Amino acid sequence: MNDPGARSARGTGHEASGRRDGILVVRHGTVVLPDGLLADGQVVCEDGVITTVRRGAAIPPGARVVDAGGGFITPGFIDLHVHGGAGADFMDGTPDAVRTVLAAHARHGTTALFATTTVGRRAQIDAMLDACRAVRDAWRPEVGARLAGVHLYGPYFAPGKTGCHAAAARRDPAAAEYGRWFRDGLVRIATCAAELPGAVAFYRAARRRGCLVTCGHSNASWSEMVAAFRAGMRHVDHFWCAMSSVPSLRARFGAPMQASMEQFVLAEPAMSTEVIADGRHLAPELLAFALRMKGAARVCLVTDASRALDMPPGRYRFGPEADGPWFESDGAVGRVGDALASSVVGMDHMVRTMVRSAGATLVEAVRMASLTPAERSGIEAEAGSIVPGKRADLVVLSRRLACRHTIIGGRVWAG
Ligand SMILES: [Zn+2]
Repeated sequence: MNDPGARSARGTGHEASGRRDGILVVRHGTVVLPDGLLADGQVVCEDGVITTVRRGAAIPPGARVVDAGGGFITPGFIDLHVHGGAGADFMDGTPDAVRTVLAAHARHGTTALFATTTVGRRAQIDAMLDACRAVRDAWRPEVGARLAGVHLYGPYFAPGKTGCHAAAARRDPAAAEYGRWFRDGLVRIATCAAELPGAVAFYRAARRRGCLVTCGHSNASWSEMVAAFRAGMRHVDHFWCAMSSVPSLRARFGAPMQASMEQFVLAEPAMSTEVIADGRHLAPELLAFALRMKGAARVCLVTDASRALDMPPGRYRFGPEADGPWFESDGAVGRVGDALASSVVGMDHMVRTMVRSAGATLVEAVRMASLTPAERSGIEAEAGSIVPGKRADLVVLSRRLACRHTIIGGRVWAG
Protein backbone atom coordinates (compact mmCIF):
# COMPACT_ATOMS: atom_id res chain seq x y z
CA MET A 1 0.00 0.00 0.00
CA ASN A 2 2.84 2.37 0.83
CA ASP A 3 4.36 2.40 -2.63
CA PRO A 4 7.39 4.72 -2.65
CA GLY A 5 7.00 5.14 -6.40
CA ALA A 6 3.64 6.77 -5.84
CA ARG A 7 4.97 9.54 -3.59
CA SER A 8 4.53 13.02 -4.85
CA ALA A 9 5.62 16.38 -3.55
CA ARG A 10 2.46 17.84 -5.01
CA GLY A 11 -0.61 16.27 -3.49
CA THR A 12 -3.54 16.53 -5.83
CA GLY A 13 -5.94 17.09 -3.00
CA HIS A 14 -8.34 14.54 -4.38
CA GLU A 15 -7.19 11.41 -2.63
CA ALA A 16 -9.49 9.76 -0.17
CA SER A 17 -8.50 10.09 3.47
CA GLY A 18 -6.30 7.24 4.59
CA ARG A 19 -4.04 7.83 1.59
CA ARG A 20 -0.32 7.35 2.09
CA ASP A 21 1.71 10.49 1.61
CA GLY A 22 5.17 9.04 2.10
CA ILE A 23 7.99 10.66 4.00
CA LEU A 24 8.44 14.37 4.63
CA VAL A 25 11.57 15.70 6.30
CA VAL A 26 11.71 19.21 7.74
CA ARG A 27 15.35 19.95 8.45
CA HIS A 28 18.03 22.53 8.96
CA GLY A 29 16.27 24.29 11.79
CA THR A 30 16.08 24.58 15.55
CA VAL A 31 13.25 22.34 16.71
CA VAL A 32 11.07 23.92 19.40
CA LEU A 33 10.15 21.22 21.90
CA PRO A 34 7.87 21.67 24.94
CA ASP A 35 10.84 21.85 27.29
CA GLY A 36 13.68 23.20 25.20
CA LEU A 37 15.33 23.67 21.83
CA LEU A 38 16.98 21.05 19.62
CA ALA A 39 19.60 22.82 17.51
CA ASP A 40 20.40 21.55 14.01
CA GLY A 41 17.36 19.33 14.18
CA GLN A 42 15.04 17.61 11.81
CA VAL A 43 11.53 16.25 12.03
CA VAL A 44 10.62 13.19 10.00
CA CYS A 45 6.96 12.64 9.18
CA GLU A 46 5.40 9.62 7.56
CA ASP A 47 1.88 9.49 6.20
CA GLY A 48 0.90 12.59 8.10
CA VAL A 49 2.34 11.55 11.46
CA ILE A 50 5.58 12.61 13.18
CA THR A 51 7.86 9.58 13.41
CA THR A 52 11.30 10.89 14.40
CA VAL A 53 12.77 14.03 15.95
CA ARG A 54 16.55 14.12 15.84
CA ARG A 55 19.71 16.04 15.23
CA GLY A 56 21.38 15.98 11.86
CA ALA A 57 20.60 16.41 8.20
CA ALA A 58 20.58 12.89 6.78
CA ILE A 59 17.56 12.35 4.54
CA PRO A 60 15.76 9.03 4.12
CA PRO A 61 15.64 7.94 0.47
CA GLY A 62 12.61 9.13 -1.44
CA ALA A 63 11.66 11.76 1.13
CA ARG A 64 10.30 15.19 0.30
CA VAL A 65 12.37 17.86 2.05
CA VAL A 66 11.43 21.21 3.52
CA ASP A 67 14.49 23.29 4.39
CA ALA A 68 13.94 25.48 7.43
CA GLY A 69 16.83 27.70 6.37
CA GLY A 70 18.35 27.90 9.83
CA GLY A 71 15.08 29.11 11.34
CA PHE A 72 12.75 27.33 13.74
CA ILE A 73 10.56 24.25 13.43
CA THR A 74 7.60 24.54 15.81
CA PRO A 75 4.36 22.66 16.37
CA GLY A 76 1.39 23.96 14.42
CA PHE A 77 -0.46 26.69 16.29
CA ILE A 78 -3.85 26.01 17.88
CA ASP A 79 -6.36 28.82 18.33
CA LEU A 80 -9.12 28.46 20.93
CA HIS A 81 -10.78 31.78 20.14
CA VAL A 82 -11.08 33.03 16.58
CA HIS A 83 -13.94 34.58 14.64
CA GLY A 84 -12.76 35.20 11.12
CA GLY A 85 -10.22 36.28 8.56
CA ALA A 86 -9.72 37.29 4.94
CA GLY A 87 -13.15 38.94 4.84
CA ALA A 88 -15.18 36.04 6.27
CA ASP A 89 -16.59 35.34 9.73
CA PHE A 90 -17.65 31.90 10.93
CA MET A 91 -21.00 33.49 11.78
CA ASP A 92 -21.62 34.17 8.09
CA GLY A 93 -22.88 30.62 8.38
CA THR A 94 -21.80 29.22 5.01
CA PRO A 95 -19.24 26.50 4.23
CA ASP A 96 -17.46 28.96 1.92
CA ALA A 97 -16.98 31.41 4.77
CA VAL A 98 -15.70 28.65 7.06
CA ARG A 99 -13.17 27.51 4.46
CA THR A 100 -12.03 31.09 3.87
CA VAL A 101 -11.24 31.54 7.56
CA LEU A 102 -9.43 28.20 7.82
CA ALA A 103 -7.23 29.13 4.86
CA ALA A 104 -6.53 32.61 6.21
CA HIS A 105 -5.24 31.29 9.52
CA ALA A 106 -3.12 28.57 7.91
CA ARG A 107 -1.09 31.41 6.38
CA HIS A 108 -0.20 32.45 9.93
CA GLY A 109 0.88 29.04 11.19
CA THR A 110 -2.43 27.88 12.68
CA THR A 111 -3.05 24.20 11.97
CA ALA A 112 -6.11 23.66 14.19
CA LEU A 113 -8.71 26.06 15.53
CA PHE A 114 -12.03 26.26 17.30
CA ALA A 115 -14.52 28.27 15.25
CA THR A 116 -16.00 30.80 17.63
CA THR A 117 -19.60 32.03 17.74
CA THR A 118 -20.60 35.61 18.46
CA VAL A 119 -23.82 36.85 20.02
CA GLY A 120 -26.32 35.95 17.34
CA ARG A 121 -29.87 34.83 16.90
CA ARG A 122 -30.56 31.13 17.34
CA ALA A 123 -30.95 30.58 13.60
CA GLN A 124 -27.58 32.27 12.97
CA ILE A 125 -25.80 30.03 15.45
CA ASP A 126 -27.62 26.99 14.00
CA ALA A 127 -26.37 27.95 10.53
CA MET A 128 -22.83 28.49 11.80
CA LEU A 129 -22.79 25.06 13.44
CA ASP A 130 -24.20 23.42 10.31
CA ALA A 131 -21.55 25.07 8.12
CA CYS A 132 -18.73 24.09 10.49
CA ARG A 133 -19.99 20.51 10.69
CA ALA A 134 -20.13 20.22 6.90
CA VAL A 135 -16.60 21.60 6.43
CA ARG A 136 -15.17 19.50 9.25
CA ASP A 137 -16.67 16.32 7.82
CA ALA A 138 -15.24 16.98 4.34
CA TRP A 139 -11.97 18.55 5.55
CA ARG A 140 -8.72 17.88 3.73
CA PRO A 141 -5.32 19.43 4.54
CA GLU A 142 -5.61 21.52 1.37
CA VAL A 143 -8.47 23.48 2.97
CA GLY A 144 -6.25 25.05 5.63
CA ALA A 145 -6.31 24.80 9.40
CA ARG A 146 -8.20 21.82 10.78
CA LEU A 147 -11.56 22.64 12.35
CA ALA A 148 -11.06 21.01 15.75
CA GLY A 149 -14.48 22.01 16.98
CA VAL A 150 -16.62 25.00 17.83
CA HIS A 151 -16.20 27.43 20.69
CA LEU A 152 -19.74 28.36 21.75
CA TYR A 153 -18.80 31.84 22.92
CA GLY A 154 -21.78 34.13 22.37
CA PRO A 155 -24.69 34.54 23.17
CA TYR A 156 -24.58 34.00 26.97
CA PHE A 157 -22.84 37.23 27.95
CA ALA A 158 -23.65 39.49 30.89
CA PRO A 159 -25.58 42.71 30.28
CA GLY A 160 -23.11 45.58 30.08
CA LYS A 161 -20.24 43.24 29.16
CA THR A 162 -21.11 42.49 25.55
CA GLY A 163 -18.19 44.48 24.14
CA CYS A 164 -18.42 44.73 20.37
CA HIS A 165 -21.10 42.01 20.16
CA ALA A 166 -24.76 42.75 19.40
CA ALA A 167 -25.95 43.80 22.87
CA ALA A 168 -29.65 43.38 22.16
CA ALA A 169 -29.22 39.70 21.25
CA ARG A 170 -27.41 38.59 24.43
CA ARG A 171 -29.44 36.29 26.61
CA ASP A 172 -29.36 33.99 29.61
CA PRO A 173 -28.54 30.33 29.00
CA ALA A 174 -31.57 28.11 28.43
CA ALA A 175 -31.22 24.34 28.23
CA ALA A 176 -33.85 24.14 25.50
CA GLU A 177 -31.50 26.17 23.30
CA TYR A 178 -27.96 25.03 24.18
CA GLY A 179 -29.00 21.38 24.63
CA ARG A 180 -29.40 21.18 20.85
CA TRP A 181 -26.05 22.86 20.24
CA PHE A 182 -24.28 20.38 22.56
CA ARG A 183 -26.02 17.41 20.95
CA ASP A 184 -23.34 15.95 18.69
CA GLY A 185 -19.99 16.91 20.22
CA LEU A 186 -19.09 19.61 17.69
CA VAL A 187 -18.94 22.19 20.49
CA ARG A 188 -15.68 21.63 22.39
CA ILE A 189 -15.35 24.93 24.26
CA ALA A 190 -18.28 26.63 26.00
CA THR A 191 -18.44 30.16 27.40
CA CYS A 192 -21.03 31.68 29.71
CA ALA A 193 -20.93 34.61 32.13
CA ALA A 194 -20.93 33.08 35.62
CA GLU A 195 -23.45 35.46 37.16
CA LEU A 196 -26.28 34.72 34.73
CA PRO A 197 -29.32 32.72 35.88
CA GLY A 198 -28.78 29.18 34.62
CA ALA A 199 -25.00 29.50 34.34
CA VAL A 200 -24.26 26.61 36.71
CA ALA A 201 -26.57 24.27 34.79
CA PHE A 202 -24.91 25.38 31.54
CA TYR A 203 -21.44 24.69 32.94
CA ARG A 204 -22.51 21.25 34.16
CA ALA A 205 -24.02 20.36 30.78
CA ALA A 206 -20.87 21.54 28.96
CA ARG A 207 -18.63 19.65 31.36
CA ARG A 208 -20.66 16.47 30.84
CA ARG A 209 -19.97 16.90 27.13
CA GLY A 210 -16.23 17.09 27.83
CA CYS A 211 -15.96 20.77 26.86
CA LEU A 212 -13.42 23.23 28.15
CA VAL A 213 -15.77 25.37 30.24
CA THR A 214 -15.04 29.05 30.34
CA CYS A 215 -16.36 32.27 31.86
CA GLY A 216 -16.24 35.39 29.72
CA HIS A 217 -17.90 38.72 29.02
CA SER A 218 -18.78 38.72 32.67
CA ASN A 219 -18.86 40.91 35.76
CA ALA A 220 -18.71 37.87 38.07
CA SER A 221 -17.78 38.13 41.72
CA TRP A 222 -15.48 35.77 43.59
CA SER A 223 -18.39 33.78 45.01
CA GLU A 224 -19.93 33.40 41.57
CA MET A 225 -16.57 32.16 40.27
CA VAL A 226 -16.39 29.65 43.13
CA ALA A 227 -19.83 28.29 42.19
CA ALA A 228 -18.81 28.18 38.53
CA PHE A 229 -15.59 26.36 39.37
CA ARG A 230 -17.53 23.74 41.31
CA ALA A 231 -19.68 23.24 38.21
CA GLY A 232 -16.62 22.62 36.01
CA MET A 233 -15.54 26.08 34.80
CA ARG A 234 -11.75 26.09 34.34
CA HIS A 235 -10.90 28.95 31.97
CA VAL A 236 -11.54 32.66 31.46
CA ASP A 237 -11.73 34.27 28.01
CA HIS A 238 -9.26 36.99 26.97
CA PHE A 239 -7.78 38.08 30.29
CA TRP A 240 -8.50 41.70 31.24
CA CYS A 241 -10.94 42.13 28.36
CA ALA A 242 -14.69 42.18 29.12
CA MET A 243 -14.21 40.74 32.61
CA SER A 244 -14.84 41.88 36.16
CA SER A 245 -12.36 43.87 38.23
CA VAL A 246 -12.35 45.09 41.82
CA PRO A 247 -13.72 48.51 40.79
CA SER A 248 -16.39 46.99 38.51
CA LEU A 249 -17.64 44.83 41.41
CA ARG A 250 -17.73 47.81 43.75
CA ALA A 251 -19.98 49.47 41.20
CA ARG A 252 -22.17 46.37 41.13
CA PHE A 253 -22.34 45.51 44.83
CA GLY A 254 -21.08 48.56 46.75
CA ALA A 255 -18.69 48.31 49.73
CA PRO A 256 -16.71 46.37 50.73
CA MET A 257 -14.28 45.81 47.85
CA GLN A 258 -14.56 42.30 46.46
CA ALA A 259 -12.26 39.96 44.58
CA SER A 260 -12.98 39.57 40.88
CA MET A 261 -12.44 37.12 38.05
CA GLU A 262 -8.85 38.34 37.87
CA GLN A 263 -8.02 37.33 41.44
CA PHE A 264 -9.82 34.02 41.02
CA VAL A 265 -7.78 33.07 37.95
CA LEU A 266 -4.53 34.13 39.61
CA ALA A 267 -5.30 32.35 42.88
CA GLU A 268 -6.62 29.02 41.55
CA PRO A 269 -3.90 26.82 39.99
CA ALA A 270 -6.42 24.75 37.99
CA MET A 271 -7.68 27.84 36.14
CA SER A 272 -6.27 28.84 32.76
CA THR A 273 -6.82 31.91 30.67
CA GLU A 274 -5.88 33.40 27.34
CA VAL A 275 -4.35 36.66 26.15
CA ILE A 276 -4.74 38.60 22.93
CA ALA A 277 -1.05 39.30 22.35
CA ASP A 278 -1.45 41.55 19.34
CA GLY A 279 0.38 44.36 21.10
CA ARG A 280 -2.78 46.50 20.94
CA HIS A 281 -5.14 44.94 23.44
CA LEU A 282 -2.71 44.51 26.34
CA ALA A 283 0.47 46.37 27.25
CA PRO A 284 3.63 44.25 27.31
CA GLU A 285 3.80 44.29 31.11
CA LEU A 286 0.34 42.72 31.32
CA LEU A 287 1.37 39.93 28.95
CA ALA A 288 4.53 39.37 31.00
CA PHE A 289 2.50 39.48 34.24
CA ALA A 290 0.03 36.85 33.03
CA LEU A 291 2.88 34.56 32.02
CA ARG A 292 4.76 35.09 35.28
CA MET A 293 1.71 34.54 37.47
CA LYS A 294 0.15 31.56 35.68
CA GLY A 295 3.02 30.00 33.73
CA ALA A 296 3.05 28.95 30.09
CA ALA A 297 0.93 25.86 30.83
CA ARG A 298 -2.02 28.00 31.98
CA VAL A 299 -2.01 30.89 29.50
CA CYS A 300 -3.06 30.36 25.89
CA LEU A 301 -2.35 32.76 23.08
CA VAL A 302 -5.50 33.41 21.07
CA THR A 303 -5.98 35.61 18.06
CA ASP A 304 -9.64 36.57 18.66
CA ALA A 305 -9.27 37.64 15.03
CA SER A 306 -12.16 39.11 13.10
CA ARG A 307 -12.87 39.07 9.38
CA ALA A 308 -10.54 42.08 9.02
CA LEU A 309 -7.47 39.82 9.37
CA ASP A 310 -5.38 40.28 6.21
CA MET A 311 -7.83 42.85 4.88
CA PRO A 312 -7.19 46.53 4.20
CA PRO A 313 -8.16 49.14 6.80
CA GLY A 314 -11.86 49.87 6.64
CA ARG A 315 -15.30 49.22 8.06
CA TYR A 316 -16.36 45.61 8.67
CA ARG A 317 -19.12 43.69 10.36
CA PHE A 318 -18.28 41.76 13.53
CA GLY A 319 -20.10 38.41 13.43
CA PRO A 320 -22.78 37.76 10.81
CA GLU A 321 -22.32 39.53 7.50
CA ALA A 322 -26.07 40.14 7.34
CA ASP A 323 -26.52 42.20 10.49
CA GLY A 324 -23.42 42.07 12.72
CA PRO A 325 -22.38 45.34 14.39
CA TRP A 326 -19.91 47.51 12.48
CA PHE A 327 -16.34 48.14 13.59
CA GLU A 328 -13.34 49.90 12.11
CA SER A 329 -10.00 48.27 11.41
CA ASP A 330 -6.93 50.46 11.06
CA GLY A 331 -4.95 47.44 9.90
CA ALA A 332 -3.51 46.86 13.40
CA VAL A 333 -6.62 46.35 15.57
CA GLY A 334 -10.41 46.56 15.41
CA ARG A 335 -12.25 49.38 17.20
CA VAL A 336 -15.75 50.60 17.92
CA GLY A 337 -15.19 54.22 18.88
CA ASP A 338 -12.62 54.16 21.71
CA ALA A 339 -13.24 50.50 22.56
CA LEU A 340 -11.15 47.67 21.13
CA ALA A 341 -13.08 45.22 19.00
CA SER A 342 -11.14 42.08 18.10
CA SER A 343 -7.70 41.60 16.63
CA VAL A 344 -6.80 41.67 12.95
CA VAL A 345 -3.54 39.69 13.09
CA GLY A 346 -2.62 36.01 13.14
CA MET A 347 -1.03 33.67 15.66
CA ASP A 348 2.50 34.20 14.29
CA HIS A 349 2.15 37.84 15.30
CA MET A 350 1.08 36.82 18.83
CA VAL A 351 4.15 34.60 19.22
CA ARG A 352 6.43 37.43 18.06
CA THR A 353 4.84 39.88 20.50
CA MET A 354 5.37 37.52 23.43
CA VAL A 355 9.04 37.07 22.58
CA ARG A 356 9.93 40.61 21.53
CA SER A 357 7.85 42.70 23.90
CA ALA A 358 6.76 40.52 26.82
CA GLY A 359 10.03 38.77 27.62
CA ALA A 360 8.81 35.22 26.95
CA THR A 361 11.30 32.65 25.72
CA LEU A 362 10.50 31.16 22.34
CA VAL A 363 9.80 27.84 24.06
CA GLU A 364 7.24 29.54 26.34
CA ALA A 365 5.61 31.55 23.56
CA VAL A 366 5.29 28.52 21.28
CA ARG A 367 3.91 26.40 24.12
CA MET A 368 1.25 29.06 24.74
CA ALA A 369 0.28 28.85 21.07
CA SER A 370 0.32 25.06 20.74
CA LEU A 371 0.59 22.58 23.61
CA THR A 372 -1.25 24.66 26.19
CA PRO A 373 -4.35 25.22 24.02
CA ALA A 374 -4.16 21.55 22.98
CA GLU A 375 -4.13 20.42 26.61
CA ARG A 376 -6.89 22.77 27.68
CA SER A 377 -9.15 21.71 24.81
CA GLY A 378 -8.32 18.00 25.16
CA ILE A 379 -6.59 17.40 21.82
CA GLU A 380 -3.05 17.01 23.19
CA ALA A 381 -2.90 13.29 22.36
CA GLU A 382 -2.81 14.12 18.65
CA ALA A 383 -1.58 17.72 18.42
CA GLY A 384 0.29 20.52 20.16
CA SER A 385 3.91 19.36 20.28
CA ILE A 386 6.60 17.80 18.14
CA VAL A 387 6.50 14.27 19.48
CA PRO A 388 6.55 10.99 17.53
CA GLY A 389 3.01 9.69 17.11
CA LYS A 390 1.35 13.10 16.93
CA ARG A 391 -0.01 14.59 13.72
CA ALA A 392 2.51 16.17 11.40
CA ASP A 393 1.22 19.70 12.02
CA LEU A 394 4.26 21.98 11.95
CA VAL A 395 5.34 25.55 11.31
CA VAL A 396 8.63 26.72 9.87
CA LEU A 397 9.52 30.15 11.24
CA SER A 398 12.36 32.31 10.00
CA ARG A 399 15.04 33.46 12.42
CA ARG A 400 12.95 36.65 12.77
CA LEU A 401 9.89 34.49 13.55
CA ALA A 402 8.06 35.11 10.29
CA CYS A 403 5.87 32.20 9.17
CA ARG A 404 7.61 30.55 6.19
CA HIS A 405 5.74 27.26 5.83
CA THR A 406 2.72 25.69 7.47
CA ILE A 407 2.61 21.90 7.34
CA ILE A 408 -0.80 20.38 7.95
CA GLY A 409 -1.16 16.63 8.28
CA GLY A 410 2.26 16.14 6.68
CA ARG A 411 1.50 18.38 3.69
CA VAL A 412 3.07 21.72 2.97
CA TRP A 413 0.14 24.07 2.86
CA ALA A 414 0.22 26.05 -0.34
CA GLY A 415 -2.90 28.19 -0.18
ZN1 LIG B 1 -13.88 37.01 20.69
